[in-house]
Amino acid sequence: MEIKAIRGFNDILPEEIGMWQFVERTAREVFEGFGFSEIRIPVLERTELFARGIGEATDIVEKEMYSFLDRSGHSLTLRPEATASMARAYLEHQLHAFDPVAKLYSIGPMFRYERPQKGRYRQFHQIDAEVFGVGNPMVDAEVILMLLHFLKKVGIGRLELQINSLGCRACRPRYREELKTFLMKRSFQLCEDCQRRLETNPLRIFDCKVETCQETIADAPKVTDFLCEECILHFNKVKEYLEMAGLDYILNPKMVRGLDYYTRTAFEVVSYQLGSQNAVTGGGRYDNLFQEIGGLDIPGIGFAIGMERLIALLSKDKKFIPHPSLFIAALNGEAQREAYRLANQLHLEGIRAELDYEGKSLKSQMRKADKLKARFVLILGEEELKKGRPILRNMEDKSQEEIPMENLLGILKDKILRD
Ligand code: AMP
Repeated sequence: MEIKAIRGFNDILPEEIGMWQFVERTAREVFEGFGFSEIRIPVLERTELFARGIGEATDIVEKEMYSFLDRSGHSLTLRPEATASMARAYLEHQLHAFDPVAKLYSIGPMFRYERPQKGRYRQFHQIDAEVFGVGNPMVDAEVILMLLHFLKKVGIGRLELQINSLGCRACRPRYREELKTFLMKRSFQLCEDCQRRLETNPLRIFDCKVETCQETIADAPKVTDFLCEECILHFNKVKEYLEMAGLDYILNPKMVRGLDYYTRTAFEVVSYQLGSQNAVTGGGRYDNLFQEIGGLDIPGIGFAIGMERLIALLSKDKKFIPHPSLFIAALNGEAQREAYRLANQLHLEGIRAELDYEGKSLKSQMRKADKLKARFVLILGEEELKKGRPILRNMEDKSQEEIPMENLLGILKDKILRD
C-alpha cells in the first residue's frame, strides 16, 4: 500500500518553494533592517513550557497540542507556537545579561491538532518576531509598523489592522468578573465548550465560532471600558505612535486573541480575501509570560505570521517558478561528454543548466527543453562538434546562431547573465 503524508501535514513542492523563499528572504531583510536577529529554537520542548506559558485553559493547551512521553517518561510537546520557546531561550542563555533589550525573529513549523481545512493545518509555518525587555508603547507601534511594512513588501494589499487593549493584572480580573456575570445570565445560549469556558476562561468565548455564542457575546461589556489608568495611558500612546507612523487602524474590543499571556496591546491583521480563516497574523504584548515560565519580570511584545495564509494571498507569480537558463542538447558519446563538462562549469558559475541523461533523440531533447521552459538551448550534434561550432537557440524569439567552441563558456555566460 502506498504511504501517504499525515492529514494536515503538507509537502511544499518545488513549484511552490520560490514563493516561500521569497517571503522568508523578505522577512529577513525587513526585520534585520529594524534591528532584529534570527534565533533558531527546537521543535520539541517540555510540555510544561507551553502549559505554563500559553495557559492551561486555552484551546491550544487543552486540546491542540501534540504531546507524548519520550522513552525516559518525560512529557514533551511539538511546539504549537514560538514565543514561549524564544522566551525560554532568552532566559536560559541569559541574553538579558548582555543587553536587556532583545529583538529576535524565528521562522519554522508549528504543530497544532486542529481540524484540518483550507488555511488550517496540523503542521503550519510561522514567522515570529519578538521584542523582549521593553515596556515602552513606542515598541508596540514599531513592531506593528515593521509587520505592515513587511506585508507591503511581499505585495499584500487590502489588509486591515485591528487593535485592542486587554488590560493587565490590575484591571483584567474586574473585567473578567463583569463579563462572567453578563454571560452567566445567558449561559443557556452558549455552546457546551463556552459553558465550560465560562468557568475557566470567559474571555475565550469571544473566539468561539458558534453563531449563537457570537450573538450572545455581541452586547457584552467591552474590555476597554475597564482599563486601569496605566493601561489607558499605554493604549493612548500606542495609538499616538501608530498615527505618527501614518498607520490606519480599527479598534476591535472583541479581539482577545487565543493565548492567555497577552496583556495590554493586542493586534491582528486580517484579509477579506481569505474567507473564514482570515487572520494572517496576530500578536500583542505579554508582560506576564516571563514570570509564568519561571523568569524575571520582563516585558515582551511580538507577532506571528501564518505563512500558508500569507502565501495563499500572494498572486501565483510565474517568476517564482525556476526555469533552466540553458538546456544542452547533445547527441552522441563525445558530444555528451562535452555537455557534461560544460554543464558542470556553468553550475560552478551558478547558472542553471540542464542536459539529457537518457540518450534521447535530438527532437525529444528539444521537447524537454521546451517543457522545462529553458531560455536557451545549445545544440551539440555530431556535425556541430566536427565543425567546432555548436548552435545556440534562443527559445523566446526562436533565433539561432553558431558559437565558436573555443570561447563557448564566456559567450554563454555573457548571453545568459546579460538580462
Ligand atoms: P496564533 O499563534 O494562533 O496567534 O496564530 C498566528 C497566525 O498563525 C495566525 O494568524 C494564522 O495565520 C496562523 N495559524 C494559526 N494556526 C494555524 C493553523 N492551524 N494552520 C495554518 N495557519 C495557522
